[in-house]
Amino acid sequence: MNNQSALITGGAGFVGSHLCDRLVASGYDVMCVDNFHTGSKQNIQHLVGRVNFELIRHDVWLPLYVEADRVFNMACPASPVHYQSDPVSTVKTAVLGAINMLGLAKRCGARILQASTSEVYGDAQQHPQQESYWGNVNPTGPRACYDEGKRCAETLFFDYHRQHGVDIRVVRIFNTYGPRMRPDDGRVVSNFIMQALRGDPITLYGDGSQTRSFCYVDDLVEGLLRMMDQNEVTGPINIGNPSEITIRDLAETVLRLTGSKSRIEYRPLPQDDPIQRRPDITKARQHLDWQPGVGLEDGLKETIAYFKHLVKS
Ligand code: NAD
Ligand code: UDP
Ligand code: UDP
Repeated sequence: MNNQSALITGGAGFVGSHLCDRLVASGYDVMCVDNFHTGSKQNIQHLVGRVNFELIRHDVWLPLYVEADRVFNMACPASPVHYQSDPVSTVKTAVLGAINMLGLAKRCGARILQASTSEVYGDAQQHPQQESYWGNVNPTGPRACYDEGKRCAETLFFDYHRQHGVDIRVVRIFNTYGPRMRPDDGRVVSNFIMQALRGDPITLYGDGSQTRSFCYVDDLVEGLLRMMDQNEVTGPINIGNPSEITIRDLAETVLRLTGSKSRIEYRPLPQDDPIQRRPDITKARQHLDWQPGVGLEDGLKETIAYFKHLVKS
């Protein structure tokens, strides 16, 4: 035990559950808070029963009074399909969740990390995206509930820092993938792998020339922990893999790695879908001595193995 307690909101989600694993292993007294909106008990069932792990069903819109030294605010649906299915609740989670967790951090004197997102850059006019870029977000479009919710959360973090001296850390996470994504998550990596494994058509939106840069979850979690553990910078800091790929190339890579005979089916590009995205990670390298170590093919193989196991069981 290291005598420190860590509260992780969204701890039963894809990223949050991997973070719980690392924190439990390093001896934190871990409180995992989740309303199971997009997360699941399966993601953390192996931790239930450990003396330094506690699962709390709770909605972060509502106040929460517990004691913690460190707070990782990860709660928020992250897939466009899920965050757009109930956009009002997405804004409430992002904004009220941030207020409540900042209030808690203020009361406890805890250090608090916000899981922000590359979506704060919107359909970026700068490429690759640096932290100093203010973004190009449509405030009234279908993605706004998430993008603007996360932007407002960042504002709250910096205001609590300036006004109340709360010890904040803000990371902007770029597209991340890996085991424990939901098969019906709706994001591109899980969609393509599930479609390939089932022999269903691969749904490619637009002409597939739009780009993303995919980071394996273990690399992301390492970046989050380094950000939390250092005493020099508040952020915002980009955490992501700067290796960029078109979505068409991603589809072809998944087809090759799964050996699937699925055909590619073109669908309309969703409104406000960013055309290109790649993190500039100069700051993460400089301040956190962090860079991703897992290449796309290796990460995809791990993820495919996870989904294969799910399909069988
Ligand atoms: P996820 O959907 O798997 O996890 C989110 C978790 O938050 C789920 O367990 C969900 O049940 C929980 N949750 C949602 N609303 C809640 C509420 N009101 N109260 C309590 N719990 C609630 O998504 P993820 O990919 O693990 O993302 C985790 C965080 O990282 C999110 O904040 C997301 O915005 C951020 N992020 C993720 C990515 C990515 O590519 N995975 C990219 C950028 C930012
Ligand atoms: N809050 C919370 N847990 C705490 C402390 C505060 O959930 O341990 C909530 C509280 O309900 C409040 C919000 O966080 O609505 C913001 O707290 P703050 O102290 O900044 O504001 P105030 O209570 O003065 O409105
Ligand atoms: N996408 C796709 N087919 C799918 C799901 C997504 O072509 O079945 C595209 C989507 O239009 C976007 C990219 O893949 O250009 C990444 O989408 P995702 O929802 O994973 O994340 P985000 O758009 O939030 O980066």
